[in-house]
Amino acid sequence: MVKVKLLEESGNSVTLQLEGIDRSYANAVRRFCIAEVPCMAIDDVVILENSSVLYDEILAHRLGMVPIRTNLDRYKLPEECDCGNPLGCHNCRVLFVLDAKGKEKVTTVYSGDLVSEDRDVRPVSETIPLVKLAAGQSVKLEAYARLGRGKEHAKWQPCTVAVLTDGKSEGQYNLTVESAGGLDARQIVLKSIELLGTKLKDIQASVGATS
Ligand SMILES: [Zn+2]
Repeated sequence: MVKVKLLEESGNSVTLQLEGIDRSYANAVRRFCIAEVPCMAIDDVVILENSSVLYDEILAHRLGMVPIRTNLDRYKLPEECDCGNPLGCHNCRVLFVLDAKGKEKVTTVYSGDLVSEDRDVRPVSETIPLVKLAAGQSVKLEAYARLGRGKEHAKWQPCTVAVLTDGKSEGQYNLTVESAGGLDARQIVLKSIELLGTKLKDIQASVGATS
């Protein structure tokens, strides 16, 4: 009998005590939290204007690293979307627009200056500096966010921490997950278990089909 106890939940972090399961299974849940649970990140950037000191590539890379609030019920992974459009559709990508100009003093452009077409999909923090603009410099771009998985690129890793430690007694494990802010920590664990279950069922079906 599997027992799960909530030991701690605060802000972006959750610690669960797992009992009655094998360490390897508990570790699989941890690994799925890191590599398989999808979250949103900016992936494609169309630079229309960039007279800042940053190269286009660096600016695009910075945008990719901004944690984005994710709605897993609303959006699909591009490979699971039936639009078949390599550019995506309104079910598998979200458009952000950035249009910033340097004023007399040096102007810092922040993640909060990104305007999203979906108000529920937005940067987790509005105060991440993206680029500084001197008077007369400007940045104008379109950025497309999509769901992806941590195994593809670290920017799609929904958690900053996922650790498994031994509990007080034998057969007890404590799983701590800290979210980057895109999803709730508890949601990451639940999704991880769901995805692991689906994968195991797929394996079961494949093995069954070979007999
Ligand atoms: Zn689509």
